[in-house]
Amino acid sequence: MKRALVTGITGQDGAYLSQLLLEKGYDVYGVVRRSSHLGVADHRLRWLGVDKDVKLLDGNLSDLSSLIRLVEQVKPDEVYNLAAQSFVASSWQQPILTANITAVGVTNVLEAVRIVAPTARFYQASSSEMYGKIQEAAQSETTPFYPRSPYAVAKLYGHWITVNYRESFGIHASSGILFNHESPLRGIEFVTRKVTDGVARIKLGRENELRLGNIDAKRDWGHAKDYVRAMWLMLQQAVADDYVVATGTTTTVRDMCRIAFAHVGLNMDDHLVIDPAFFRPAEVDVLLGNPAKAKATLGWEPRISLEEMILEMVDADLARLDRA
Ligand code: NDP
Ligand code: GDP
Repeated sequence: MKRALVTGITGQDGAYLSQLLLEKGYDVYGVVRRSSHLGVADHRLRWLGVDKDVKLLDGNLSDLSSLIRLVEQVKPDEVYNLAAQSFVASSWQQPILTANITAVGVTNVLEAVRIVAPTARFYQASSSEMYGKIQEAAQSETTPFYPRSPYAVAKLYGHWITVNYRESFGIHASSGILFNHESPLRGIEFVTRKVTDGVARIKLGRENELRLGNIDAKRDWGHAKDYVRAMWLMLQQAVADDYVVATGTTTTVRDMCRIAFAHVGLNMDDHLVIDPAFFRPAEVDVLLGNPAKAKATLGWEPRISLEEMILEMVDADLARLDRA
């Protein structure tokens, strides 16, 4: 039985990846940072019904010794580094924490692997945000980066340190440059989930307006369930490499929002309010990925469309709010 160690297991991708690995017969261990709110951290794992099947261990990306101990204890075949301060807007409020966790934290995990389990395969959760002010209409593995937020700058460090440990120490380290991916388990502050939760609240008569920032921004949105499959496929390759994971289609926030309102029979223009508070100091106007390499080498393709995903998210939020 293969053993996987997942940092960020309590996040969106950690939950879907755990489900996938368990289906494939892995023994799954996750790193959880200590919190005073007992029993809350694993809510996504519970939602997917896998909380009893994973083993959660105490550690933190900023504490190298905790990571060394965990790698010693678990003896993983595969390490997935998903933990991060992952919200772009917060990275302007907490730039140093973002650098400590999202950038230097990657080196901590890589050091634990290098010192204790140098033959383990390593996955780094890199981000399309690294392309920022885009240098090519469709972004691929060879497109130059131009980060536009402290988060993106930190992710760029994480990407290059992963490449560097592969080239310096021969570690089987791959970097997945994933474009935005969402699901009913997406954090509530991200725009898709904010929209689907807001639409559900308005439909249920609990609120009347939805306040957003720049709705002209365009993103290449996919489903987290599809994207964690790409992570796993990367670590099954004989040679480690970097891959763009995207759908190849880009949509405005406005059009994504319209899909959500239309699903419950509401007119978006009756409820949407543009609020300057949600504009960012520097914006990433458009992202569009070219997933040709992932398709050719990994045989990976997305299965769930944006429309199917938004409908699933609205329905999940309606059900969740109905129970509350
Ligand atoms: P989430 O924000 O949902 O999850 C982040 C995870 O990191 C949580 O489990 C969180 O724990 C954990 N974490 C944060 N700080 C620490 C720390 N100091 N020590 C240990 N764990 C910590 O992110 P996603 O699941 O959406 O994304 C997974 C990864 O992929 C992230 O690195 C993200 O930046 C990256 N990414 C995501 C994309 C997306 O569209 N979703 C696109 C491209 C990259 P806790 O539950 O305690 O908060
Ligand atoms: P990001 O691509 O990782 O920053 O993912 P987000 O979901 O946070 O944001 C996607 C895009 O939606 C960005 O261009 C935001 O500026 C835009 N956006 C517009 N209004 C909002 C809002 O109210 N909240 C968030 N999170 N994003 C918004």
